[in-house]
Amino acid sequence: MLDTLRRTIQEVNRAPDLARALAIIVARVKQAMVVDVCSVYLVDNERRQHVLMAADGYNREALGEVRLNFGRGLVGEVARREESLNLDNASDHPAYVFTSDIGEEPFHGFLGVPIIQHRNVLGVLVVRQRERRRFAEQEEAFLFTLAAQLAGAISHAGASGDISRLLQGSDESRYALKGASGTPGAAVGRACVVYPLANLEAIPDRMAEDVDAEIAGFHAAVAGVERDMRMMSARMVDTLPVEDIALFDALILMLRSENLVDGTIKGIRAGNWAPGALRDTIGEHVTAFEDMEDPYLRERASDVRDLGRRILERLQSISPVTRSFPPDTILVGAEVSASQLAEVPVGQLAGVVSASGSSASHVAILARALGIPAVMGVDDLPVGRLDGQELVVDGYQSRLFVRPSAAIRKEFQRLQREEAELTGELQDLIELPSETSDGKRLPLYANTGLLTDITPSLRCGAEGVGLYRTEIPFLVRDRFPGEEEQRSTYRQVLEAFAPAPVTVRTLDIGGDKMLSYFPVEEDNPFLGWRGIRISLDHPEIFLSQVRAILRADAGLNNLQLLLPMISGVKEIDSALGLIKRAYEELLEEGEEKLEYPKIGVMIEVPSAVYQIPEMAKRVDFFSIGSNDLTQYLLAVDRNNAQVAELFDALHPAVLRAIRQVIDSAHEVERPVSVCGEMAGDPAAALLLLGMGVDSLSMSSASLLRVKWAIRSFSMPEISTLLDEAWAFEDAGAVRAFLHSTLENAGLGGLVRAGR
Ligand code: PEP
Ligand code: MG
Repeated sequence: MLDTLRRTIQEVNRAPDLARALAIIVARVKQAMVVDVCSVYLVDNERRQHVLMAADGYNREALGEVRLNFGRGLVGEVARREESLNLDNASDHPAYVFTSDIGEEPFHGFLGVPIIQHRNVLGVLVVRQRERRRFAEQEEAFLFTLAAQLAGAISHAGASGDISRLLQGSDESRYALKGASGTPGAAVGRACVVYPLANLEAIPDRMAEDVDAEIAGFHAAVAGVERDMRMMSARMVDTLPVEDIALFDALILMLRSENLVDGTIKGIRAGNWAPGALRDTIGEHVTAFEDMEDPYLRERASDVRDLGRRILERLQSISPVTRSFPPDTILVGAEVSASQLAEVPVGQLAGVVSASGSSASHVAILARALGIPAVMGVDDLPVGRLDGQELVVDGYQSRLFVRPSAAIRKEFQRLQREEAELTGELQDLIELPSETSDGKRLPLYANTGLLTDITPSLRCGAEGVGLYRTEIPFLVRDRFPGEEEQRSTYRQVLEAFAPAPVTVRTLDIGGDKMLSYFPVEEDNPFLGWRGIRISLDHPEIFLSQVRAILRADAGLNNLQLLLPMISGVKEIDSALGLIKRAYEELLEEGEEKLEYPKIGVMIEVPSAVYQIPEMAKRVDFFSIGSNDLTQYLLAVDRNNAQVAELFDALHPAVLRAIRQVIDSAHEVERPVSVCGEMAGDPAAALLLLGMGVDSLSMSSASLLRVKWAIRSFSMPEISTLLDEAWAFEDAGAVRAFLHSTLENAGLGGLVRAGR
């Protein structure tokens, strides 16, 4: 069974469209379970019916014709109860209805399992038997596992329009793909798929612009790989036994084989570019080998993969992919990275869609900083089929429409206009102070990281920088930046805001911020070597960064230094020792006009929440990193789409921890800021103000919205709001309450911008 399951799933994943995937499933299941019929019903939500989409054993004419209203028949029963149903005689069940048009008269045995994806029933997979037959537990488990795999393929099909084509014969998708979370805003644009180089499976389909050039490039790449192979073989001749050397000859034969060469050229002639066509032929070869009975031959699949990767590398070096980005680029990828985002010229980036990650991932934080809507964690994203397609990104509800209908496009263009109008109206607030209606001030600072977000931060009236993420200049390079290079980058930020304060955070790499040139392999990166831990283990990296930061501040003296991921006082002591050393060395070297900066720590690891008095003896201020604090308090990986719904900084436990930090810090007379994403959520900002936070730091795109919220309430109103919010027991209830308060106060426009 396990082998059949593995092969069926492989075949299904390779199927070019949903219809063929379903046909494979029903045929394979019928054969493997030795049943008389296997069928798949899919949900047609619009007509609230289950439609027979594929069957092996019924009349073919019934496909698409047999429709059962929701709740009707055994299929309806399986879908309603979201449970499998195993009956030795179907007609004994009270929910049974007889469907004559499929020719089902003689069937008795019935086993149906629901196809569920993200708590949504997408359909039902059914097997039938003429005789009475109660299916064995193992058989039920087999069907169950297939149904779980099928769920992903059906969601994919929803995105690429297959379902609507199957159901209505229409080419336009009205189905939205759901992401796990997003950053607010709406975008209409063209998908630009980004992918890791030298990863054949990640190559998207793309139209070949010049078929002859693609074919010539492919021939050259194959010839290049053949040369490499011959050289390798010659080099090894004295080292390896003859039978192992023969392996190279076998690979060269495979490389020259008609199947591989002609198959790829056929794919190019059919319109795909060379890497896309190569991906398909290599995929077919790999499966052919994997399907072989002989274990030795099965192993050869990895050689084919290796050949494919080598040809791809050659192709990429012959004609390196220089991306041109359309003016309304929507960056799409299996795992869009911060550096891929930074490659798109500002002004041409309209949206971001990533199959993995969440709104707390750093690429989403960057998108938010630039005011770009993003949908994260679309785990059913058919990345390979999206390049060049028109997309609508709905960052408010974390949805994505592929080839949207005219009505959907129009609706989102209207939303964009409304947002632009609101942003326009808010410009009047730039010069006005951030204070409540009864005069309580709350300074609002900007979060920055890219030099491109300095101007928007200045323009929105930020009173300084509350968090400058220095790892971003490190992420967009292919080596560690030198001290002078760093100094000049930091100087630009400090100068742009002087004399207003700029809080520069020392390097916080690790977790989801990996440097390509400093790879770290860990099972649990968010609980591993991150932030200050790396800096303290590599004093040479830390010292050169601190020296660059201190030198950048020369003569300006608006620098504050912030240490990330502090979990205990020893880390602070060690970091302070190094900072002092760097400072003294610079003075000795004759650097003038250097002032020792104020130093603060991020409160983002739960242990730090309980050590405020001890930490206050060592540092001048605290900044709450609500993103990591939420992640670590709730045990929710901020980057994992599967659990993104659980990630919520309004969780009462997070609110209590924050309040405790603020109270403890005030007892020892230290100011507290919040610089995590919650500071930019107008509803959350009101709660933080009520708790007595001293300042907030957020992306510039959120700043005027937060200011509007603050200016709309008095302190007594905010205290009442906090008291009422405190009574709720879960994040959803807190959020619903805050949103209704904003709406009642005429600030409904801000609610959309929240989570
Ligand atoms: C945070 O954790 O809230 C924070 C501001 O730091 P980062 O998002 O960069 O980890
Ligand atoms: Mg953090």
